[in-house]
Amino acid sequence: MARPFNFSAGPAALPEEVLRQATDEMLDWHGSGMSVMEMSHRGKEFTQIATQAEADLRELLAVPANYQILFMQGGAIAQNAIIPLNLLGEKKTADYVVTGTWSAKSFKEAKKYCAPHLAAGATSGPYLAVPPEPTFQLSADPAYLFICTNETIDGVEFQQLPETKAGVPIVADMSSNILSRPIDVSRYGLIFGGAQKNIGPAGLTLVIVRDDLLDRASPLCPSAFEFKTVAANGSMYNTPPTYGIYIAGLVFQWLKRQGGLAAIEAHNIAKAELLYGCLDASDFYTTRVEKPFRSRMNVPFFLKDESLNEVFLAGAKEAGLLQLKGHKSVGGMRASVYNAMPLAGVQALVGYLKEFERKHG
Ligand SMILES: *Cc1c(COP(=O)(O)O)cnc(C)c1O
Repeated sequence: MARPFNFSAGPAALPEEVLRQATDEMLDWHGSGMSVMEMSHRGKEFTQIATQAEADLRELLAVPANYQILFMQGGAIAQNAIIPLNLLGEKKTADYVVTGTWSAKSFKEAKKYCAPHLAAGATSGPYLAVPPEPTFQLSADPAYLFICTNETIDGVEFQQLPETKAGVPIVADMSSNILSRPIDVSRYGLIFGGAQKNIGPAGLTLVIVRDDLLDRASPLCPSAFEFKTVAANGSMYNTPPTYGIYIAGLVFQWLKRQGGLAAIEAHNIAKAELLYGCLDASDFYTTRVEKPFRSRMNVPFFLKDESLNEVFLAGAKEAGLLQLKGHKSVGGMRASVYNAMPLAGVQALVGYLKEFERKHG
């Protein structure tokens, strides 16, 4: 039987091909007689898996040679502390652009480690746009400029990267749009993201960091979270999340088979246009985020008559469309349409939206 389409914001749907391959390899990875979960992280089998995963990610994102790829743990929320601990050095502040719930959380956490500066945005919502760049109030000497390129809860996405003062690295939380489009890694100092949105299972956190930023960690930074230590040990200072790295590696291979990030971006644009187009064409549904900042990955929408919400969700589930309920802080509905969501899934959702409106509109 066909699997339902899963619109969860995270942990989110993975490509079916990847799940099938992992099923086939569960008991015996490539004749090793072991499941990947049972291997030494330092053995030759797992070393091969991790090396390949890193090489494939480097190729997909065209990561320059002067950047380290780190496989860490703790999720994006832990990075909100790990990043200031590693990057502040002697500096007393860092600039934060707050465009949604996640960057607001990052800004708040940074207050434990420095006096972060709110360069743009607001510490509470509603979040409906990225503030225009000329309004950014950058501080005189920040350690970095922090942004969240895609606000998963609010559905606000940067469509272009802000300029920073010379020498100020951009730090970007890309948890929910990494690998959804090509990016120029050389414009960032550090990119990070939890894997469970667009890469693999929860428990793996990806960090891509420029070499010259490895030397400024606070002496109080835990060794397992010190980028320099993690990098010097090939992400094996402590036991990494081995199974997560394996699944992420299968996803990277799958992305290469789809034609890489330019091809996946075209696919994501087609899905977003279809879904927003349907919502825009109707008076029965509304969206709130300003059009230029609409996320391609997370699409919050509302029924005009919110008393129908439960009926809508129950009918969606019946139709094989799972996890459409919006985040509690925003309400309404949210369809997350990451790389692994096929066009057929969005077509099915659009069909259901029209059908539901016909019945209840
Ligand atoms: C999900 C998410 C987080 C939180 O990730 P955890 O893995 O729970 O720490 C942070 N930022 C963004 C943009 C997210 O989508």
